[in-house]
Amino acid sequence: MDRGGARAGAGRPLSLQHQIERGEKLAKKLGPFPHAVIKPLHGLGGVGPERPPVQSTRMLKVMCPGCGYTVRATRKWLDIGVPACPDGDTMEEVRGDE
Ligand SMILES: [Zn+2]
Repeated sequence: MDRGGARAGAGRPLSLQHQIERGEKLAKKLGPFPHAVIKPLHGLGGVGPERPPVQSTRMLKVMCPGCGYTVRATRKWLDIGVPACPDGDTMEEVRGDE
């Protein structure tokens, strides 16, 4: 018989101290996390003081008044020229559309 029948995975649950030691061993083995601190709310749509400024590049809606074909483009490209729909019609920027 082994020591009191305390076989791994059977019998009494691990003591809290034992579990903490296990966790510390694992943490030591894994080492520090290889990435920066993750901030779940820091990003697009985030909230709070670390919210980034609103993007200056907005995707503007462009639609063909004839068939309704719609694409989105940035101000930069619309200033250069508005695209045509597959039918060859000139599309128009839809203002006020988010
Ligand atoms: Zn069209």
